[in-house]
Amino acid sequence: MRKKKKYFDDKSWCFWEKNNKEFENIIEKSWDSFSFNLKGKTNFLASNQYKYYYIRSINFYKSIIDKILNCSHISLKLGETIKDIIRYKSYYKVITCKNIYLSKNILDTRPNINVFKKKPFMYQTFIGYEIKILKKIRLDQSNAYIMHNMHIDSNNFYFEYILPLKNDVFLFELTAFSNKKISFKIIEHKLKKILSTYLHNSYKLIRKEYGIIPMGFVDTKLIKNYKNYYVSGSLAGSIRPSSGYAFLDIQKWANESTNNLKKYGNLNILNKSEYIKYYLDKIFLKVISSNITMAPKIFYHFSKNIIPNTFIRFMLGRANIIDYIKVIYSMPKRIFLKCLIKN
Ligand SMILES: Cc1cc2nc3c(=O)[nH]c(=O)nc-3n(C[C@H](O)[C@H](O)[C@H](O)COP(=O)(O)OP(=O)(O)OC[C@H]3O[C@@H](n4cnc5c(N)ncnc54)[C@H](O)[C@@H]3O)c2cc1C
Repeated sequence: MRKKKKYFDDKSWCFWEKNNKEFENIIEKSWDSFSFNLKGKTNFLASNQYKYYYIRSINFYKSIIDKILNCSHISLKLGETIKDIIRYKSYYKVITCKNIYLSKNILDTRPNINVFKKKPFMYQTFIGYEIKILKKIRLDQSNAYIMHNMHIDSNNFYFEYILPLKNDVFLFELTAFSNKKISFKIIEHKLKKILSTYLHNSYKLIRKEYGIIPMGFVDTKLIKNYKNYYVSGSLAGSIRPSSGYAFLDIQKWANESTNNLKKYGNLNILNKSEYIKYYLDKIFLKVISSNITMAPKIFYHFSKNIIPNTFIRFMLGRANIIDYIKVIYSMPKRIFLKCLIKN
């Protein structure tokens, strides 16, 4: 990972929320329902409380850059790769490819896959094409197809993630969960094949997005634990191990730490220990990574048996004890029990 030279429309973020106000100016689209599809059968889930929201990254970046430009005491340095951060008794020295900075506090948000525990761990690799279609397609504009056409190929779990953005504009993404790294070339080739089946190649590419998201648990022993040295984002374990979602958690961290900074002058925030969430994520990831060929059935079974609001609260990390019981109850029992006994 390196510095950014400039901010461009490199990704999009989706999340479930009740009537979102914080990002209302930059939310581009929302969907009332979402779906899971296996072997031609689609299970639609609709919530009476939550919507699935879509933010285009460039609009988010612009809104934040505007705020930064209005703050005379903050400056944004683009195009500088951090080479090293050296700790001294009461300050840090940040060495970049262009400059040296001295600072009392450090907030490190450089993603680092090496801080993740080796097991359970999976890679979530995806490529998305935002396309303008030149041929009609039978997809419901009010539904987000979050796990479509789940299948196994070469011992990897694949699904399509399809977001209808406008009548003729869609985000078509192909995602793989795998134990070993998969090259973008392989996924892009598969995505192109899928698009040719859906659309016979009658589409115009607007933009691409891609990523490899670590699905696992950060080993806190590998994170620098120094005075006035803070970490955030993927580096701090904000990526949900069982799903790869991180956006809302990072925003929550940002809000809480800003309040802390105003009140106490530091970024320390107390992390609520959420043992059940951690435990369920761990079991879930263990089951999926050791039974990858069962993943399509597991996800479909889960989606069939779970109540939409419970599913969403679980995804948001806001589940209550009853939700957790319902989540456990909705998992395919035999396979999860086997894993529990093994571990
Ligand atoms: C394409 C894509 C789509 C995603 N979609 C969703 C979604 O729909 N919903 C959701 O909840 N999550 C989503 N995620 C996951 C997660 O929300 C994002 O990955 C999020 O951006 C992670 O934030 P971060 O701050 O940890 O890392 P980043 O956003 O990657 O920020 C890290 C920053 O550090 C900079 N950097 C790194 N190394 C250096 C260095 N040595 N020197 C200087 N700068 C450096 C990088 O240039 C970058 O600006 C998505 C991720 C990707 C990649």
